[in-house]
Amino acid sequence: MIFYGTKGSHLHSERVSGIKCNHCEQQTSHTISIFGKYFYIYWIPIFPIGKKGISECNHCKATYERKEMSEQLKLAHDNVKRQTKTPFTHWVGSLLIGGLIAFGIYAANQHEKDVVNYISAPQVDDVVEYKSSESAYSTLKVTKVTNDSIFFVANSMEISRKSRIYKIDKDKNYNAERYGISLADYKKAFDDNTFLDVDR
Ligand SMILES: [Zn+2]
Repeated sequence: MIFYGTKGSHLHSERVSGIKCNHCEQQTSHTISIFGKYFYIYWIPIFPIGKKGISECNHCKATYERKEMSEQLKLAHDNVKRQTKTPFTHWVGSLLIGGLIAFGIYAANQHEKDVVNYISAPQVDDVVEYKSSESAYSTLKVTKVTNDSIFFVANSMEISRKSRIYKIDKDKNYNAERYGISLADYKKAFDDNTFLDVDR
């Protein structure tokens, strides 16, 4: 279950004086308080939705929302509201999400660059991902590399989702068949998508 919704937090209060109160009819001071509303998920503010202010008469304690304020009070309220900045903390969730996405893109790009190097210069213990059947994936582990050949031991397990391959990439699973192919064929296997990825 995801907890989400909107919340308001107090941003700023200011006292304005010399304004007549509609309730006690005194020419008096009012405290104008501005609240910032924001959308949250799991208590983390994602983005601000807007600001809202209320006033409180310092003589009779009557409170007004903007729509109930006198023209003079409205003017004072709008001034205070304009000068109250929305804190960046109300964006913190968006910043986090943006940061994670940016990091994900960076990491994916970096991995692609690395894989090009891994394929051209394979090393012992490289793990090669491939489609082992119509609906499953498995891995091979490089056991030896010579001038012109490469040797593997196959993983005895397979898994239905490529993103879960890490779950079967365990030392104890590398106990199936052993293969050797030429380095040229190894590179070709990536070009024709027989081999999908390499992790090092
Ligand atoms: Zn009053």
